[in-house]
Amino acid sequence: MRSAADPGEREAAVAAPLASPSGKALPIAVRRLSKAYGAVSVLDDVDLDVRPGEFLTLLGPSGSGKTTLLMAIAGFLRPDKGSIRFGEREVVRLAPHKREIGMVFQNYALFPHMDVARNVGFPLRLRRVPATEIARRVEAALEMFQLGGYGGRSINQLSGGQRQRVALARAIVFEPRIILMDEPLSALDKQLRERMQIELRQLHDRLGTTTVYVTHDQREALTMSDRIAVLDRGRIARIDTPRAIYDQPGSRFVAEFIGESSFLDVEIVDGVCRAAGSVVRAPKIPAGQGRCVMMLRPERLRILDGSETEAMNRFDGKVQSAIYQGDTLLLQLVLADGSQVGLRMATRGDDAEPPASGSPIAVGIAVGDTVLLADEGRART
Ligand code: ADP
Ligand code: MG
Repeated sequence: MRSAADPGEREAAVAAPLASPSGKALPIAVRRLSKAYGAVSVLDDVDLDVRPGEFLTLLGPSGSGKTTLLMAIAGFLRPDKGSIRFGEREVVRLAPHKREIGMVFQNYALFPHMDVARNVGFPLRLRRVPATEIARRVEAALEMFQLGGYGGRSINQLSGGQRQRVALARAIVFEPRIILMDEPLSALDKQLRERMQIELRQLHDRLGTTTVYVTHDQREALTMSDRIAVLDRGRIARIDTPRAIYDQPGSRFVAEFIGESSFLDVEIVDGVCRAAGSVVRAPKIPAGQGRCVMMLRPERLRILDGSETEAMNRFDGKVQSAIYQGDTLLLQLVLADGSQVGLRMATRGDDAEPPASGSPIAVGIAVGDTVLLADEGRART
């Protein structure tokens, strides 16, 4: 993305005309929302509360129902049953354009026969805003997305990143109190996508709107969200802050979907847990089962050298491979019982050579960081 010549100018364009007065953000309350296609249930009794001004992300694998839930909130899809309230108002039977939401679709859905300015001004014409006011607000919205001067361009003269920004400008131009976005960055290359993640989050904070954002990219969800709702086959498996979900995923499905992890089978006999030939301790042990699984985040696992001061769970094994990835070194290890785990450590300029493959290694994770999860396989949580 181009940066504007004068950052002060850009800030002024951003702050003044478009910022909604604070306190206008609306909460969204979804209750018992269901949708089926034939015998296939796509949304299964979904309850979801989005707080006013919150950035909430719907995260889940392809086909988990993210778009369906977002389209129901937007009004483009009629659920079979359930309720959706914006603040005090029930909207489940209200037409999309009466819901006063800003919407960004996955494929942008720009009008190819209209130029950039007419695309961005469309929601204002729909609302019969006077022409001079439309011109002013369109220009401010274009400035905001570094598209000043692009108003007369046709859509097919724009790059993917520019189209993306036109779609965003069109979504916010009428100062909606709720913004819904469906994988808006998925078509962009990695660098632009990562920059836009930060910018969209900053935009959200400036506008003070309630935002529901859909992605299947867990890192994007962690980067942008106040809270993440993880969808699994039409149900919300977990909703919490990025940190809480990452550290305490609560189920193997969520642990596998968010962040990297290895899993060890744990046997529990008389309250004593064993995994990969070691006795392990943990703050919480899943109740009532003879077995469970241990989640090992690669960056929480450390090579032990005897200087550790915390209580550690220790595992012995061998180095299988050492992979240099620039910022981190990834060691793939085989433990005493044959399980494979990854260990990731930050690199530095003066790093010693990584351990050679085949060399024995002792690794550990702090007892306080040790997470044991019920072994439900892919069962519902
Ligand atoms: P996501 O956005 O998480 O990838 P979707 O909400 O698009 O998932 O779809 C959820 C499930 O609903 C998928 O299995 C999909 O095939 C099915 N589905 C979506 N729309 C339709 C439709 N119009 N007819 C039949 N099945 C559909
Ligand atoms: Mg989708």
